[in-house]
Amino acid sequence: MHQVTLVPGDGIGPEVTRAAREVVLAPGAKIEFEEVLAGQRAERDLGTPLPAAVFDSIARTKLALKGPTQTPFGGDYRIHIERKDARGKLEKRTYPSITIALRKELGLFVNVRPIKNYPGVSSRFDKVDLLIFRENSEDLYMGMERMIDEGTAEAIKIISLRASERVTRFALDYMRKLGRRKLTIGHKANVMKMTDGLFLKTAQDTAKQYREIEVNQRVVDALCMELVMKPEEFDSLLLPNLYGDIVSDLAAGLVGGLGLAPGANIGPDCAMFEAVHGTAPDIAGKDIANPMAMILSAVMLLRHVGEAGAADRIEAALAAVLREKRHVTPDLGGDAGTRRMSEAIVEKLARP
Ligand code: ATP
Repeated sequence: MHQVTLVPGDGIGPEVTRAAREVVLAPGAKIEFEEVLAGQRAERDLGTPLPAAVFDSIARTKLALKGPTQTPFGGDYRIHIERKDARGKLEKRTYPSITIALRKELGLFVNVRPIKNYPGVSSRFDKVDLLIFRENSEDLYMGMERMIDEGTAEAIKIISLRASERVTRFALDYMRKLGRRKLTIGHKANVMKMTDGLFLKTAQDTAKQYREIEVNQRVVDALCMELVMKPEEFDSLLLPNLYGDIVSDLAAGLVGGLGLAPGANIGPDCAMFEAVHGTAPDIAGKDIANPMAMILSAVMLLRHVGEAGAADRIEAALAAVLREKRHVTPDLGGDAGTRRMSEAIVEKLARP
């Protein structure tokens, strides 16, 4: 039995994680969920947005399925972490958001985001099949920002050879396993000569050991333009943290929106699965959020733990519901609620 920490999160998080949980349990996968609070409800009920119980649970399970958690714009909102290191010394660290705190504290150095067309979902393009690898541990996401004076703010961008090599190696090994053959590195090395220059050079040097994979590069602005004109020409993308975040949302838009884009944060010890989308406060609590991205994130979790049979059955049931179009959410052109859509998938699993 695989224990999985479940974090419902904020906004649409509780609705879409409930849907994912029901769908995952339906085909009899050997999964047991342990629910812990993080986000606004944790802050209200437990006095902190990221309680130690979350880390305690993931330290045991090594696996998490996480709903989106809210991060306010601007201001001085920070997540403060106090944890003992291996020698018992108390360490204090600060992060810009709950998600970044979890990714960093758990050593989840890469974010894998498959974004593709699904039959039955209308979108602007029909041959998109992208695999995005986003470096997850550094870049401008380190939260190293300060006000120099009242009218000037500064942020520090960190790119290291170690992290760049680690994420490139992971991406190429992952592609090898899936038989994918073309990797495009996105960067802005023409302007960020040292930081993005180091990322690009390290990725290119590392890729020399993977002769069967064709590697090319694009300046990230040109990459965005090409992606919205001819996305079918791209296979896998490797990007530093910030560009990876932006390009992921752009890619989700190519296939029908954020409701369709799942993700996996992976590290040497544990893995945390979460959709690309955020808390979507505009549609929260209305039972209209598309649960697909969270369900597909759970499917990635099932494959990660070797439950490929259950993963295949869920994907087939989801595909059937999408093709029939009767029980899909408004973003997919239907008028079903989040609950109805997940029930329809569970019904398909019971009677394929
Ligand atoms: P956050 O600040 O938490 O990132 P946000 O609203 O800025 O929240 P997203 O949550 O990513 O960003 O949402 C962006 C847009 O996409 C919103 O209009 C939202 O309604 C839509 N959206 C996001 N997720 C879904 C979903 N699962 N189903 C339907 N629409 C979604």
